[in-house]
Amino acid sequence: MPSGEHAALWIKDPLAILAEGAERGIVVKGGRIVELVAAGQTPATPDVKTFDAGEHVVLPGLINTHHHFYQTLTRAVPAALDRGLFAWLKALYPIWARLTPEALDLGMTLAMAELMLSGCTMTTDHHYVFPAGLEHALDIEVAAAKRLGLRVLLTRGSMNRSQRDGGLPPDAVVQDEDTILADSERVVKRHHERSAGAMVQIALAPCSPFTVTTSLMRATAELAKRLDVRLHTHLAETEDENRYCLEIHNCRPLDYLEDCGWLTDRVWLAHGVHFNAGEMPRLARAGTAITHCACSNQMLGSGTCPVCAMEDAGVRIGLGVDGSASNNASNLMQEVRAAFLLQRGRYGVERVSHRDALRWATQGSAACVGRTDIGAIAVGAMADLALFKLDELRFSGAGDPLAALVLCGAHRADRVMVGGKWVVEDGQIPGLDLADLIRRHSAAARALRA
Ligand SMILES: [Zn+2]
Repeated sequence: MPSGEHAALWIKDPLAILAEGAERGIVVKGGRIVELVAAGQTPATPDVKTFDAGEHVVLPGLINTHHHFYQTLTRAVPAALDRGLFAWLKALYPIWARLTPEALDLGMTLAMAELMLSGCTMTTDHHYVFPAGLEHALDIEVAAAKRLGLRVLLTRGSMNRSQRDGGLPPDAVVQDEDTILADSERVVKRHHERSAGAMVQIALAPCSPFTVTTSLMRATAELAKRLDVRLHTHLAETEDENRYCLEIHNCRPLDYLEDCGWLTDRVWLAHGVHFNAGEMPRLARAGTAITHCACSNQMLGSGTCPVCAMEDAGVRIGLGVDGSASNNASNLMQEVRAAFLLQRGRYGVERVSHRDALRWATQGSAACVGRTDIGAIAVGAMADLALFKLDELRFSGAGDPLAALVLCGAHRADRVMVGGKWVVEDGQIPGLDLADLIRRHSAAARALRA
């Protein structure tokens, strides 16, 4: 039986924990949290084994709601440095067109390993590049996630508006609408789990207004409704996108989205940097959630997502590291800090605390992915946990352990549990040779750039 997945385990006496009434820890059993142990109490659950968490700060597992795993192969590419979104994309598309199944597997495995070691227990991925030979990208991805034991919502992305049709990408990286819709249905039917505690789910995700036709946007929304899966895309990321939408569609990005049948609670959107005050209540009424990508938006100079104004309007906000060619890192705990600093800088100390940033990465992100069984330490929730030690130079002398994670810059979890199973132990992923992975991944990245 792997790592006591089914036995009751008391995660005992944590240094700190992000939950009320769990001062003496929590009990997990059968993949779920079954008991919170309050101060002065011991578990009521019989036959518990004990894990001493006296040196650990315990968080609900962090949830990453936007990424492009394959981009770990194109970090800090010289031709894409110091460019805004559109020029940056044009520099990278030709490299992405050369992706192979082997390179993709390495890129995805490395991205997920990096996320897990940063305290992530559930991630999405938005894969939208399907050059010839990469038709089974989602199948490769599902296999990699299962090997690592990470909970995932993988999106079948798409692009069908190439330069030929007034879009941004070259012809070599797009597919036609029929191919995209058929494969979308195939991967949902093959991989999407509908049971409680699902480990692998699929969503549909046309890339953006400037890479996908209106026809495909509408057809994808209809397909997602018929298959009952979630929908995702990039929106309101840059001023360039606003201009493109006004020029091509005669409206702003959100109007275009609504016109395509996408303003619903099935949808979560990456970025949302450029929504105006009139658009925020529309998002809230529809139940459309937003992924804030603080590092990526700063790296590409896209602007600052108005997170607090959107929350005040009733919009749910989660966090995402975004692809590793824009963020360049896949570290979700560092993303929490980046979001905290960026939003505090915008809204002030009384409005944004470290607890807000942790809430965005947990409860807020859970709303983005449409799940109520993750994102909090509560009885009945999945046992998805991130445990950090404060034994590095950067934490020495810290007072409040929870605040220290964000303020001092935690970046590596000591232990991570997904569905009651340890997937990171002592800062390592059991069974994964990180040095070998880095060697092979680096070689694949070099080959791709050459
Ligand atoms: Zn993105």
